Amino acid sequence: MRFIDREEVARRLTYELCIPIVRDAMIAFSRGETKQLLRSIIPLSEGRLFGVMPGAMGAHAPFGAKLISVFPENFDRGIQSHQGLVILFDPESGTPVCVLHAGEITAIRTAAASAVATDALARRDACRLALLGYGEQAATHARAIGKVRNLESIVVWGRSPERARVFAKRMQAELGLPVTDAGDVKLAVAEADIVCTVTSAAEPILKGEWVRPGTHLNLVGSSYAGPAEVNNDLVVRSRFIVDSREGVLNQGAEFLRAKAAGLVGDEHIVAEIGQVLAGEVEGRRSADEITVYKSLGHIVQDLATAWALYSQSESTS
Ligand code: NDP
Repeated sequence: MRFIDREEVARRLTYELCIPIVRDAMIAFSRGETKQLLRSIIPLSEGRLFGVMPGAMGAHAPFGAKLISVFPENFDRGIQSHQGLVILFDPESGTPVCVLHAGEITAIRTAAASAVATDALARRDACRLALLGYGEQAATHARAIGKVRNLESIVVWGRSPERARVFAKRMQAELGLPVTDAGDVKLAVAEADIVCTVTSAAEPILKGEWVRPGTHLNLVGSSYAGPAEVNNDLVVRSRFIVDSREGVLNQGAEFLRAKAAGLVGDEHIVAEIGQVLAGEVEGRRSADEITVYKSLGHIVQDLATAWALYSQSESTS
């Protein structure tokens, strides 16, 4: 059985490779071509989670599962907070053929999915990115969003001003564009065209009233029915597009809070991103609209990416 480790995923899974793979996977998912179970989450101690995500790219296509632990405190220890394995099975024989480093795949495919959504939903002239959070996803989002829009500047906010400064300096050196830190969330998003919320915040850090018309937001940090990064007002005010309707109806915390407050119904989810990408539902309808992509993360993104790494390495080795 082949093993693809973290270094190999990081080296080979470029955004140029990953973005189109994730795009196609989300279209296939929304067309009902893929098969998957809702993610199961086992809560461990002190906010730690163990997630199990099984799926198949089709009835006669690669299948497998991602097993992933989420230990938020690892960020302070300099270890990935998401660690685990993607296990791939061959559709011809049912044989498990490859095990891959899920932490690195998750870091890259999540940002690639946000890039796909940003390309579909942000204004064409969007060039200022705000990142709320300075962890692993913040870095991958800075890299990925720059592949779909000509970014002129990035602003980062996080709870620690010192960490925000260090992150800004690191990303500016890497990306070669101005990256600055903001003292608070309101300031960070004030001029932004694109906002990515990539924190482990349990309660909203971003209010709808701070978001200017025409902004596109990728809400990424909360991936189960608990923590919420943005308040109800933002959910209500936005054209709300999701990776998976079933997923968000069950596990999308921001949506579920607004629904529980009686502010929105299920119809507030106007589409899955795959429907927008396939041209079945309109994405952004005007330059003033606030668009949201609610990302929970999906097994088809992991499987499609993993299969590409496995099958391409086989044919070239
Ligand atoms: P990291 O652990 O690398 O970074 C976490 C970030 O959240 C840090 O910036 C941390 O900074 C910040 N943070 C933690 N607590 C709070 C708080 N209460 N308020 C504001 N900021 C806070 O995690 P990742 O970058 O890997 O992931 C970020 C989030 O995205 C996580 O919640 C993760 O579960 C989620 N995620 C979602 C995916 C999806 O597909 N939708 C996939 C992968 C991750 P500090 O502690 O210094 O404030």
